[in-house]
Amino acid sequence: MIEERYPGNKETENRVQAKVILARCPYESRKNENVFGMRIQKYESDWQRTWAFKIDMEKAHNEGYDREITTGSFIPAADYPGCPYCGSKTIAQCSCGKSFCVKAERGYSLQQIKLTCPWCGQTGMYNAAESLNLEGGDF
Ligand SMILES: [Zn+2]
Ligand SMILES: [Zn+2]
Repeated sequence: MIEERYPGNKETENRVQAKVILARCPYESRKNENVFGMRIQKYESDWQRTWAFKIDMEKAHNEGYDREITTGSFIPAADYPGCPYCGSKTIAQCSCGKSFCVKAERGYSLQQIKLTCPWCGQTGMYNAAESLNLEGGDF
């Protein structure tokens, strides 16, 4: 498991605004082990995803990651490795505020897709083009 530690001193915090949020992978069959952390970094007015790593819920809770709710479009950075389970670089955000990954395919971009949030079980329609930040060519 790869972990990152962030220095707590003020100078670093002011220079780089970064934190870790949690997401779940609905494509991972072991439902208790489908959590991953995404490191996000403030980039102008939005957040950029720079890293993703597997984590278990207990550790995530101890680190306070499960209390972190951040909204935004979370653009993947050029070297963002993707979901550690399924490799997808695309995430959807549920109205509960939690994120989960989506294997978006080209051709989905003009239609709405039905997704179930693995955090709260809510099923909703997602407009692929707007909500999922589809990147062309990766899929
Ligand atoms: Zn995934
Ligand atoms: Zn949800």
